[in-house]
Amino acid sequence: MSNIRTRIAPSPTGDPHVGTAYIALFNRCFANQQQGKFILRIEDTDKARSSSRSEQDILQALRWLGLDWDEGPDNGGDYGPYRQSERSEIYSTHSQILLENGCAFHCFCTSERLTLLRQEQIANKQQVGYDGHCLHLTPGEVKAKLERKEEHVIRMKIPEAGECVFDDLLRGEVRINWSQIDMQVLMKSDGLPTYHFANVVDDHLMAISHVIRGEEWINSMPKHVLLYEYFGWEAPIFCHMPLLRNPDKSKLSKRKNPTSIGYYRAMGYMPAALTNYLGMMGWTMPSGEEKFSLDEMAKEFDISRVSLGGPIFDREKLDWLNGKYIREDLSDAEFMAQFASWAFQSEKMAIIVPLIKQRVERFSDVADLGQFFISADVSIASGDFEHKSITPELGLKILQFSLWHLEALTEWNRESVESVLQGLATSLGLKIRDLLFPLFIAITGKGVSISVIESIAILGLDISRARLRDGITVLGGVSKKLAKNLEKEYRLLD
Ligand code: GLU
Repeated sequence: MSNIRTRIAPSPTGDPHVGTAYIALFNRCFANQQQGKFILRIEDTDKARSSSRSEQDILQALRWLGLDWDEGPDNGGDYGPYRQSERSEIYSTHSQILLENGCAFHCFCTSERLTLLRQEQIANKQQVGYDGHCLHLTPGEVKAKLERKEEHVIRMKIPEAGECVFDDLLRGEVRINWSQIDMQVLMKSDGLPTYHFANVVDDHLMAISHVIRGEEWINSMPKHVLLYEYFGWEAPIFCHMPLLRNPDKSKLSKRKNPTSIGYYRAMGYMPAALTNYLGMMGWTMPSGEEKFSLDEMAKEFDISRVSLGGPIFDREKLDWLNGKYIREDLSDAEFMAQFASWAFQSEKMAIIVPLIKQRVERFSDVADLGQFFISADVSIASGDFEHKSITPELGLKILQFSLWHLEALTEWNRESVESVLQGLATSLGLKIRDLLFPLFIAITGKGVSISVIESIAILGLDISRARLRDGITVLGGVSKKLAKNLEKEYRLLD
């Protein structure tokens, strides 16, 4: 059996991101091509930001795309548990090893001291980072502080000079000066590990042979390489994939492009087409064929053919490819069946039907009223936002603030949507009816329609976000300066 083991290690801190699916796809193809195993590990050590809802959404989204895994928190395996929150013991044992062999140290610095230090370093145009204050504590001092239960973290020691040299499968030799590397916290004061520590310990204990991940981690490599050295472990082979980019070459971000897999599902893309499209990011089939299945990609996969130029995630190209799948892969009967199961998902319909039923006189009224639930966008123009007391500037502000309020919701339902919007109306000193007007236009395309609160709850955050953002664009968009002002004002809301 092959020893090739790759992994995807998402942090469950938000919507399932297309970037996660992209990295998962390449890991899976790499493992499959060599009869290896592909593992899913949940990196949920950031207690405050992780949620089980996000974990479930990520698992479901990857599965929807066909990117299933051989071992993971749901299906188990020989190297579990596969959720870091269930591995705390392992990290604390391993941090003790590093303390004992002198590679790590206790740090008792208060956050006030660290903030001050940081401010000074910024003011003096120095490299920002820990200054080694606690490195010089004697063993007796450390012992006494620990006995007094003083709050502390555990940091790793970093060489003072020289450079870290390592290999990247796609880039060859990479060199980074140690002077740029901070004495990374390994264990936080809550007793939980940081990403860097848990990630290295787990990759080793889970026998990961190849770490294929996004390029944003390359600057963390010295810390990781050093941890492997400190433990005396053989490091896996590393490969940092180019980041997905917006058409303007900036890093793919939800400000410019929907990044949530849920959005593409809700918009009626076919999973095979989206997976195929992600496969085209930095990779081409030897035949040059653009349409290929996951199995075909896995069969032909050769990581050395990945190109480093930042792949552009271009919605138009995705639409073209999805159209090709629809036309070429679906018979009329399949099209009908898939369309119906997408449009008339029973859970969604159970909520929509009573809302529509109250408001129609004939079946022929249904399409007009309910259209905004299934179309991609609603067509609106700036004139649609005209209102006796809501100026376009205020309308834009309402849309932006509502979006930020909705994005912060941890629970998504009619009541939670209603309560944040009601709260916003109060903070802005507006009647709820007036606040809802621009939302009606952006979400439903009309000034009067099915309750917009209900509609937002049904459409979900992904589609609502896209529509609110379209509304903002129609109202003139947000320049950098305006964004700053809005953010400032938003922070001051109570
Ligand atoms: N938890 C990290 C993330 O969410 C994993 C990075 C890695 O693959 O090492 O991106």
